[in-house]
Amino acid sequence: MILCDHASNRIPEAYQSLGFAEEALQTHIAWDPGALAVARLLSAKLDAPLFWPDASRLIIDCNRAPDASSLIVTESEGRPVPANRVLSEHERSRRLERIHVPFHDAIDACLTRRMSSGRPTALIAIHSFTPVYFGKVRPWQAGILFDDDRRLADLLIGGLEADPALTVGINQPYSPADGVYYTLSRHAQPEGLPAAMIEIRNDEIGDEASQRRWAYRLADILLAAASGVFEHVMV
Ligand SMILES: [Zn+2]
Repeated sequence: MILCDHASNRIPEAYQSLGFAEEALQTHIAWDPGALAVARLLSAKLDAPLFWPDASRLIIDCNRAPDASSLIVTESEGRPVPANRVLSEHERSRRLERIHVPFHDAIDACLTRRMSSGRPTALIAIHSFTPVYFGKVRPWQAGILFDDDRRLADLLIGGLEADPALTVGINQPYSPADGVYYTLSRHAQPEGLPAAMIEIRNDEIGDEASQRRWAYRLADILLAAASGVFEHVMV
C-alpha cells in the first residue's frame, strides 16, 4: 500500500488560502511537491492501492497524532500561519473529522480487507523535501526513514546505493525521532507489517520525466524487496 500524507496543497475555499499568496501555496510549506505524482505512478506500476488526503498540511497534518502540537501548525518553515493561531475546539474537531479521520479510516479499512484475505502487505509512505532548509543544503537525493523494523528500509537503501550517483539519507533529512513517522507507526506496527518512508528531494521530481524515473526506479527496488520481505509469508 502506498500512502502520501502531504500529497495536496488544496485549501478549502472557506479558509481563504489561510492568508497565503497562491505562489506560497505551490511550495513545500503547503505540501510535498512532486510526491503525489510519484506515488500515483508507483501505485499503478505495483498495482498497489494509494491513499492520500486532499487537503494541505496547513489545514491539518495527517502525518501527526491528533494530540500532537504540530497537528495544525502556527508556522511552517518559519512562515507564520496566523489563521491557525487561535482555533476553537470546534474548528479543530471539524478538521480532524473531515480530513484526518477519513484518511486513516480508509487505510484501516483497506488493511482489514487485506489481512482477512491473507494478502501479504507492506506500507510505503512517499514524501518530498526541500533542497535547502533554513539555509542548510541537503546533499541527499532521497532519504529512507524507518523505525525498529528495518526489513524494507535496508533493502531500499541497498537498492538505491547500488547507483553510485545517489547519496542516500539514512533516517535523513528526518527520522522518526522528529515525530514524522505517525502514519506508518499507527498502521504498520500493530500488525507487524514491513514499512518505510521514502523522502525524495523535490528538485529531483520537478517534472513528469523525472517523476517517472523515480517511480520506476523505486518500483524495481520495491518489487525486489517484496520478494525478500515476504518470502516466508508466501510459502
Ligand atoms: Zn511530507
